[in-house]
Amino acid sequence: MERNINEILFDTINFLKFKQEHTSYDIFENYIDRNILTDEDIKINITLIENQNTEENLKTQAVKDKVIKRVSKEISLLREDWMDCGTIDELNKKICKCQKCPLGKTRKNFVFGTGNPDAGVVVVGEAPGADEDMQGKPFVGRAGQLLTDILKAINFSRDEVFICNILKCRPPGNRNPMPEEINLCEPYLFKQLELIKPKFILAVGTFAAQTLLKKKEPLGKLRGQFYDFEYEGGVAKLMVTFHPAALLRNPNWKRPTWEDVQLFRKEYDKE
Ligand code: SF4
Repeated sequence: MERNINEILFDTINFLKFKQEHTSYDIFENYIDRNILTDEDIKINITLIENQNTEENLKTQAVKDKVIKRVSKEISLLREDWMDCGTIDELNKKICKCQKCPLGKTRKNFVFGTGNPDAGVVVVGEAPGADEDMQGKPFVGRAGQLLTDILKAINFSRDEVFICNILKCRPPGNRNPMPEEINLCEPYLFKQLELIKPKFILAVGTFAAQTLLKKKEPLGKLRGQFYDFEYEGGVAKLMVTFHPAALLRNPNWKRPTWEDVQLFRKEYDKE
């Protein structure tokens, strides 16, 4: 069956979209953002297509190059300008008016994150709450004060680390983040990590842990150990522990949290 370049291009883009069993277009964009889809991926796919049923149409290198060029162009059209930011401040300015999900309409303030843009440690929580939404800063209010105290107990000041959330806008009534909101918002977090290049990440709470680790296990099973977390341009040691707001509700979790953060500090000191 004869197939023209447009059909091959269409197949190629679809192949890339559904690569790694992801079926969401937003996740595909996220993968592009994280540069997981490289020219090499595209070339491999061209070879796959070629080996399947398009041999007749891909007889010359010139035709192959043309397809690669066109696929690359299609992918570059999906890029957004914030993806090329070189600093944290620039990124904040570019995304602070985001309206990609409905939370953009209900938030009072966008909560980008605060702290050292060259931090060795990034603390990642779930989403802004009422106080955070009001002030435009992460981890303020009672839970925020507890996080400050926990960090202080292991000799980190808030200014020394960078603190942010998976979602940059408050879900109404502090409801749990929806999967679609996470899909749309997490590329910003990955870009933050790419710019900060932390050596350590402390994920506080179930949503931060499950989102970063792409796991479904409960927090109790995920905590107490280190994971290698790869981001564009680096890898960090990631540890999971309880969210300070959960500790306010259940003081019995203070002890395991204390054990986690002590382990975290010990590993940090080894570096
Ligand atoms: S939560 Fe994230 S994706 Fe949704 S509007 Fe806010 S910044 Fe944009």
